[in-house]
Amino acid sequence: MLNIVIFGAPGSGKGTQSDLLKEKYSLFHISTGDVLRAEIKNQTELGKTAEGYISKGQLVPDALIIDMLAGVLDSNKDSKGVIFDGFPRTLPQAVALKEMLNARGTDVSAVVALEVEEAELIDRLLKRGQISGRSDDNFETIKSRLDVYNNQTSPLINHYKEEGKYKGIHGMGSIDDIFGRISDVIEAI
Ligand code: AMP
Repeated sequence: MLNIVIFGAPGSGKGTQSDLLKEKYSLFHISTGDVLRAEIKNQTELGKTAEGYISKGQLVPDALIIDMLAGVLDSNKDSKGVIFDGFPRTLPQAVALKEMLNARGTDVSAVVALEVEEAELIDRLLKRGQISGRSDDNFETIKSRLDVYNNQTSPLINHYKEEGKYKGIHGMGSIDDIFGRISDVIEAI
């Protein structure tokens, strides 16, 4: 199985590139942010709990996210592989992901990391906010999401470098150029 973690700060293009990747390589796309937004829309217990964290730009607690991910994985056992978008975001989530995949006889194939300058991230997120209607695409929440990324998520870079799985991609430029760079990395796996 081809299991790709698409990694990067908020606004780095993970969702956009995942959409292209899932088509080209017939992968199943799991965006934890999208799953949470659907839970909020349906006003489930998980959705109601998640809403407060998301609107403040904070992470939803690991235990809730890990449980949620296990459920989604089990509902799609037949895919050729999975794109994990927005997960893992903490070290305990990375450990849990490895355990979940190992228990299913597979592992993370590569961590494709979109590297984008912070000024560009803020610019992209503010622009998206004008059309997305997302409660967290406003300047104040963007700032806390970037702080959360720098403090809680970026330690995963070294974690995956140590495992030899980290593949840094220059994430600036046209969508097609970035997708070309990602495809080159995937085809070399
Ligand atoms: P995203 O759509 O990936 O930008 O996620 C939007 C928000 O959902 C994040 O700012 C977090 O509040 C929450 N979220 C998504 N994925 C995770 C995760 N793996 N761990 C914790 N919180 C998450």
